[in-house]
Amino acid sequence: MYDLIILGAGPAGLSASIYASRYKINHIVIGNIFDSSTSKAHLLENWPGEKSIKGLDLVNNFSDHAKDLGADIFQENVVEITKEVDSDSEKNIFTIKTNLDKVYQAKSILMALGTKHRKLNIPVEEEFLGKGVSYCAVCDGAFFKEKIVAVVGGSNSAAMAAMMLSEHASKVYLIYRKELLRCEPIMIDRLEKNEKVEIIYNTNVTKVSGDKKVELIEIDNEYNGSKKIKLDGLFIEAGSVPSASLIKGLEMKTDDSGYVVIDQSGATNIKGIFAAGDISNGSNGLRQIVTATSEGAIAATSIYKYLKEK
Ligand SMILES: Cc1cc2nc3c(=O)[nH]c(=O)nc-3n(C[C@H](O)[C@H](O)[C@H](O)COP(=O)(O)OP(=O)(O)OC[C@H]3O[C@@H](n4cnc5c(N)ncnc54)[C@H](O)[C@@H]3O)c2cc1C
Repeated sequence: MYDLIILGAGPAGLSASIYASRYKINHIVIGNIFDSSTSKAHLLENWPGEKSIKGLDLVNNFSDHAKDLGADIFQENVVEITKEVDSDSEKNIFTIKTNLDKVYQAKSILMALGTKHRKLNIPVEEEFLGKGVSYCAVCDGAFFKEKIVAVVGGSNSAAMAAMMLSEHASKVYLIYRKELLRCEPIMIDRLEKNEKVEIIYNTNVTKVSGDKKVELIEIDNEYNGSKKIKLDGLFIEAGSVPSASLIKGLEMKTDDSGYVVIDQSGATNIKGIFAAGDISNGSNGLRQIVTATSEGAIAATSIYKYLKEK
């Protein structure tokens, strides 16, 4: 029986692990650093102390730091969490099952599961996944050397994906459904100066098609006199949704968008379960690495106090 199991090996989970080790909380981390949103970020330029660092390098640094302090990180997927009340302590104890049929038990849990990308839900999006449709510019961008690609979305992630893809592709369309991108103004400046990038506003992608791979997209507004654009790749950066499948069975309180509701200490409505990072409604909705690491640290501190409570 562990004192704490941290679910998620991204900035929130790994920061919590660093703090937990220093509090001498007997814990493990379950998750995959390569599955963290941070490893999909091409270049980070707002992590204090690093003017520019690759996302994967930063999350690797977090993981090395956590391991140096003694953390065991298991690359498994949690498929079920159940709880029961311990008759001695009258506190919850939790049983966690993973995809490798392993079972772990803990006195407390930190949910640091992050978010998953939102789909566009247009015809044959799923069938073309890996055949021109991608949700990760960092992972797949290099396959589009001298090709024509489009990015769908208006966020920082979408802007960053367009900039990154322009290093490989011959042309990058950035297609957004509204009339103003919602990314940081500094990103808009960079996009506008980039000769390979063309921004198409007030437009939705309605269909993707091709023979064996992506060849064409259809849009709902005319662009250069046509509602069709020929291209080789479609990168979808349409936002994210909390990784909520595990929390459903636990009757965990979420907000209207599905984010786990936490108080200032990181506690959820279920005694012994805390949440941190992108999955939570904390930090005024700012879902970034600085906030994920802070929430992880706060939660670990609260868990330390919770475990000591009689
Ligand atoms: C393209 C892109 C660019 C970004 N750029 C920036 C930026 O410039 N600056 C910035 O501050 N932020 C940026 N972000 C946001 C930042 O990456 C996130 O805010 C941060 O990663 C959140 O950390 P987290 O630990 O909450 O979740 P994540 O980093 O997403 O980690 C989630 C973890 O949960 C694990 N997990 C999920 N489900 C399960 C399960 N069932 N069982 C076990 N483990 C599971 C995953 O394996 C992963 O380890 C960017 C994000 C993207 C996608």
